[in-house]
Parts: sequence; structure tokens; C-alpha cells
Amino acid sequence: MSTDALDTVVAGRLAAVRTRIASAATRSGRLPEAVRLIAVSKTFGADAVRAAHAAGQVDFGENRVQEALGKRADTADLPLRWHLIGPLQSNKANKIPGAFASVQSVHSVDLVERLSRASVAAGVDLPILIQVDLAHEATKSGLAEAELRSLLAGARELPGVRVEGLMLLPPYAEDLEQVRPWFRRLRDLRETLLAEGTPADQLRELSMGMSHDFEVAIEEGATIVRVGSALFGNR
Ligand SMILES: *Cc1c(COP(=O)(O)O)cnc(C)c1O
Repeated sequence: MSTDALDTVVAGRLAAVRTRIASAATRSGRLPEAVRLIAVSKTFGADAVRAAHAAGQVDFGENRVQEALGKRADTADLPLRWHLIGPLQSNKANKIPGAFASVQSVHSVDLVERLSRASVAAGVDLPILIQVDLAHEATKSGLAEAELRSLLAGARELPGVRVEGLMLLPPYAEDLEQVRPWFRRLRDLRETLLAEGTPADQLRELSMGMSHDFEVAIEEGATIVRVGSALFGNR
């Protein structure tokens, strides 16, 4: 596809997704600005990122560190924010601070500690989200609900990292009404933690919802949606 054609296609899809986000937010009694869109550019090239940026998109998500760093370097002339949304190996923690605006897929105390040390060394503050495993799926990573409280408490004592909320990657179901309960469970978990005294600034964000189900996620309280194929096409 020529650059002009790609720009036009991506701009059109972005506008459509933004409209759907705004409607879902309004339906759930919130302002459209209360929901942030992360454009998931994994497997797509820097040209796709440039096309989205030309249409006003600033936040991008990637699930592999190396791929993200390459694309970040290829678009270094643009003021973009990169978010890591996929599994992070502990030994790559030192590649994160300074390069990523957030890590949304943090799932262990060990990783929080490593990111803390790396961020302090780099002299930055790193926002992180804790990926919660509600469905106990063997194929997906995430922290068990039972371990969440001690991780949140421990993270409050660590410099360089700031837990800002929770992330969910629910089991796939074609029927959106089968996905909705997972989103609702994450929102309920947030309410429970708040009622127990977890500081609200650790629970500001709920990152949930992808191309297939982001409107339902917003209806259930998502503040961040991670949308890839609806913007860039099928992978
Ligand atoms: C790929 C991916 C997305 C986006 O998925 P789409 O279905 O393409 O919108 C969202 N979140 C995570 C964690 C992903 O890996």
C-alpha cells in the first residue's frame, strides 16, 4: 500500500474507533476523554505508526520489547508514548525505563523490584499496571488475585515505580456477553481493594478491552483500551 493510501485507511479506522469509544463512554455515563486509546502496532511497521500519528494518535502498545525498541528508534522524530503490554522477562527490565511510558503487563513482585531498581538507576519514574489473572488460564500470564494485595503494598515502598491500576486479558469468547463478566469482575475487584483501603492512585486505571470487545469493556469501566487489528488490519 502506498503511504498516502495507508494514511487514509488508518485515519478512517482511527476515527471510527474513536467514535465508538466516545459512544460507549457516554452510554456508561462518562466523558469520552475518560477512556484512553492505546494503538497496538505489534507486527505492523513504522509506516503504520506514522499513519496513526498523522491522524492524531500518540499512545502505542507493543507486546515484545525488541520489536518495540526497533519501532521506537524508527519513529524517534515523533513525540510518541510507547507502552509495553506483553510479557516481560525479568532480565530485560533494564531496557524499559526511559523507553516506555508504562508497562501494563507486570505480573510478579520480582518484576516490580527489578523495574524499580532499573528506574532508579535511569532516574525516571515508571508507571506500571498489574496484569491480573482472573480466569487461571495456563496460556496467559498474570498475577493471581490472592497475591495482589501484598504486591500493591510492597510496591508502595519501592522508588521508581508507580502502580497506576490493573490490566486484564480475559479469555476469548465470540459472544461479548460471555466476556462482559470478566470485565465486571476486574471492576469489582478494584472496588473491593478501594474499600479495603488501597490508595486510589494505585487503582486509577483499568486497562481492558481489545478490538473485539472494547465497547463492552468501556461499559464495564475501562479507562484504557488496547486496540490493534481494528486500526491496522488483521495480523
Ligand atoms: C495484541 C494485543 C492487543 C490488541 O489486540 P487486537 O485484537 O488486535 O485489538 C491488546 N492487548 C494485548 C495484551 C495484546 O497482546
